[in-house]
Amino acid sequence: MNNPQTIFLILIGIITLKFLLDTVFSILNAQYFNKPIPEVLNGIYNEAEYLKSQKYKKENHRFSLITNTFTFVITLLFFLLDGFAFVDSIAKKFSTNTIGVTLLFFGIIFIASDLISLPFSYYKTFVIEEKFGFNKSTLKTFITDKIKGWLMLLVIGGGLLALITWFYQITTTNFWLFSWAIISVFSIFINLFYSKLIVPIFNKQIPLEDGELKKAIQSFSEKVGFKINNIYVIDGSKRSTKANAYFSGFGSQKRITLYDTLINDLDTNEIVAVLAHEIGHYKKKHIIYNLILSILLTGFTFYILSLLIGNTLLSQALGVQEASFHIGLIAFTILYSPISEFTNLIVNKLSRIFEYQADNYAKKQYNAKALISALKKLAKNNLSNLTPHPLYVKFYYSHPTLLQRILNLKK
Ligand SMILES: [Zn+2]
Repeated sequence: MNNPQTIFLILIGIITLKFLLDTVFSILNAQYFNKPIPEVLNGIYNEAEYLKSQKYKKENHRFSLITNTFTFVITLLFFLLDGFAFVDSIAKKFSTNTIGVTLLFFGIIFIASDLISLPFSYYKTFVIEEKFGFNKSTLKTFITDKIKGWLMLLVIGGGLLALITWFYQITTTNFWLFSWAIISVFSIFINLFYSKLIVPIFNKQIPLEDGELKKAIQSFSEKVGFKINNIYVIDGSKRSTKANAYFSGFGSQKRITLYDTLINDLDTNEIVAVLAHEIGHYKKKHIIYNLILSILLTGFTFYILSLLIGNTLLSQALGVQEASFHIGLIAFTILYSPISEFTNLIVNKLSRIFEYQADNYAKKQYNAKALISALKKLAKNNLSNLTPHPLYVKFYYSHPTLLQRILNLKK
């Protein structure tokens, strides 16, 4: 590791290995598409629905192979043609200030890669999801979502990046402590106010309407000591027919959000069971544990970054002679990715454990049968894969498979 060429080769090696691994796992998973459905899951789909779900899986598989290969080839070309040095020279033409150059540099790279991937995300929404009856998004929503996303990234991402670059300029060796602190404070803030500040930019949320459902939810929440005014309904149907529910925030800012599509698809009993699962996440303090874990991982990442960032070799490996923070950051992100692959494994494993705990809570406090029937309906309406490859589940799934969850609930 003492000359730029070696580091360049290591970077290319990591990118290639990651691409190959993802492709192999994806193909392995596809080998399981036609496996017989486990007996417990029989009856979720009828013949026609099952054929449709098979088509949906295959189409998505093919699409992700094409997108991943395309992205890989473009990335490789960008590295081989000294793309980073080129963008660096453009950024330096427009600014002489280090923070300005860093923001321009990442801004150009982000906008360019987002524009390149735009046709793919358009195709995914308006061709694949449309064909299978999931898409409810209009072109107008699609475009305004993009613009809102860009503006949010500009303000939040740009602000944080500017701060971190500034910390590096003024403190060098200790910059990781300051950066860690600011990112931690920011994560806690976003965790608390996500539903109040970020979600309204994209969706409408309203408190549950009066009626049979509200009554049923009320009597369950009273029983377990959860305030009903923390339960909201969101207009997920604005973009997709797929249904969901999630828990966010903590303390006075805690809330459960149910998609309007979920309320349409499930009966009262099933909705209360899903709600019981979400309350389970709250009672078992999963939000807090996830937040602590992510803050610890961030600190670790910044510490490793501080050890490497000053090294001129990182910049030289990407064709830029003098050491600079933004070029070093790119090289670091790739060098660090094998470690983050590993930490992702742990995070996913933990998330699957939490899902079992929330399911067990719903089983104990409410009704396992209702939750099983809700999960089956959701799987059917989302055309879920009932037979994923076990290795694929270990690497990529944040939730246990439907089969695993039902077997656990039936225990
Ligand atoms: Zn859950």
